[in-house]
Amino acid sequence: MAQVLPPNVSPERFSKALDEFAAIIGKEWVLTSEEDRNTYLDPFAPGNADEHASAGAIAPQSTEEVQAVVRVANKYRIPLWPVSTGRNLAYGSAAPVLRGTMVLDLKRMKRILEINEELGYALVEPGVSFFDLHDALRERGDTYWISSPAPGWGSVIGNALEHGVGYTPYGVHADTICGMEVVLPDGDVVRTGMGGVQGSREWQIFKLGYGPIWDGAFTQSNFGIVTKMGVWLMPAPGAVANVVVSLQDENALAPLVDTLRPLRLNDTINATYTIVNPYRAIIDDARLQGQVRADIYSGPGVLPKDVIARELAKRGKSPWSVNFNVFDVREAGLDLRLEAIRSAFGKLPRVNIDVQRWRAGEPRPGWARVDPGLFALGIVDWYGGPGGHMNFAPVCAPIGSRVVELYELIHRRFVEHGLDCYLGMLNSGNRGLILNAVMFFNRNDDDLTRRGRELYARLAAETAALGYGDYRAHISFMDHAAAMYTFNDHALRRLNERVKDALDPNGILAPGKQGIWPAGLRSFRKTGDHS
Ligand code: ADP
Repeated sequence: MAQVLPPNVSPERFSKALDEFAAIIGKEWVLTSEEDRNTYLDPFAPGNADEHASAGAIAPQSTEEVQAVVRVANKYRIPLWPVSTGRNLAYGSAAPVLRGTMVLDLKRMKRILEINEELGYALVEPGVSFFDLHDALRERGDTYWISSPAPGWGSVIGNALEHGVGYTPYGVHADTICGMEVVLPDGDVVRTGMGGVQGSREWQIFKLGYGPIWDGAFTQSNFGIVTKMGVWLMPAPGAVANVVVSLQDENALAPLVDTLRPLRLNDTINATYTIVNPYRAIIDDARLQGQVRADIYSGPGVLPKDVIARELAKRGKSPWSVNFNVFDVREAGLDLRLEAIRSAFGKLPRVNIDVQRWRAGEPRPGWARVDPGLFALGIVDWYGGPGGHMNFAPVCAPIGSRVVELYELIHRRFVEHGLDCYLGMLNSGNRGLILNAVMFFNRNDDDLTRRGRELYARLAAETAALGYGDYRAHISFMDHAAAMYTFNDHALRRLNERVKDALDPNGILAPGKQGIWPAGLRSFRKTGDHS
């Protein structure tokens, strides 16, 4: 692959910029060989990964180096795409939105700067993975637990910034952020919250600080490079249960959602739940057994109804189920929670409730997805592989009728586009439900990926018209997702872009991320009506 250049940058200027980067961080950390560049392509690209090819990568080791790199990037107008560990699979991995952007790879900044056991927080650098933090806590005697997404090899910072979710009471990772150090697009460095006070020891314990709360503005954005982040840790529980509620009725979705809502709202269920639809029940089980789609069905279109019924029965699965953990400090507290949960679900017809329990002192519960693992990775080869996936994930209130209406529309469109509708609904916080509809494809199957892309664009347009918005999107669809936020002629996007232009007048930081484009590059926007 020929060298890719940033837009509007000549080969000579690019080469000068690379020399200046090398003078700051060392030649070996300016990575522009073809082999290097290939490692920053999206291995799960839905289509041609070259659309999002980087011009190379730069891997600084300190905040000061990041600042110096940013200043050179401004001088030569080199766009930078920060990643922490770059494992953001299904959303673009380490690849940038704009072809020719340089990846600012922060994986060498991987110190756990502090674990505070009195106050229950850690201060970490971008390269710290969930595994790293987990291991460090276990070495210290396990008095705190982390919340990890599936899988756990990604970075604590990267996942929280992208609004990732885990399966403990601390499962809304963006809510566990307390205090950041951020390099701004002009190279200045700022600490948010109490970190704004020189010498503060309260940086990681009070989120509000004084004045606007900036931490949120640096999540899912391109306003700054986060070089340190505080994260609150969960005191080790005394007892945990994993509960799986299975419902045999095909129409169980609405009552399931309506039964979960009050239990989650009053915190009886105090961690993220996942509702599993029939396709997901079958595909998860099939992949666990090493089966692919062709082992079950090779006819046209999506899995037909009779195949779904047969496979569910054969595998002992239900059309609908929900899976969640419940945590308590004391076993007696867990007993009370489980009693309330059993009583509420016991009112539904044809229900089965499975509970596994763990108490402090026992070996760590493998079933509860509380520890980082690598589950979920093999799933992508459903169509035979080499596979990939992308997600359409609108946010919906947990009201049974509303969820069913949205689910049925999504399902209908999957059927029309001939893609199996693998869908999980997971709650983010006590009130929001994310309908995570996964489009699997084979990377070498152009027709399948094309249908997936068309499906995403169609779902975004149609559900936006009904008043829904996507919570997170693949780099190829960030403009589509942003375009869903239509109120007052896209006022939110206009605000984001006003802030963008004020903070980043040269437009060097992650152009196009979350559909936020700097003034000079707005012609690259794929969709929408704001110019
Ligand atoms: P993970 O490896 O944890 O899945 P990444 O490191 O790929 O996550 O980060 C996900 C996304 O979050 C990146 O594409 C980038 O847009 C953003 N991001 C990650 N780390 C930073 C950071 N330190 N500062 C600013 N944005 C970041």
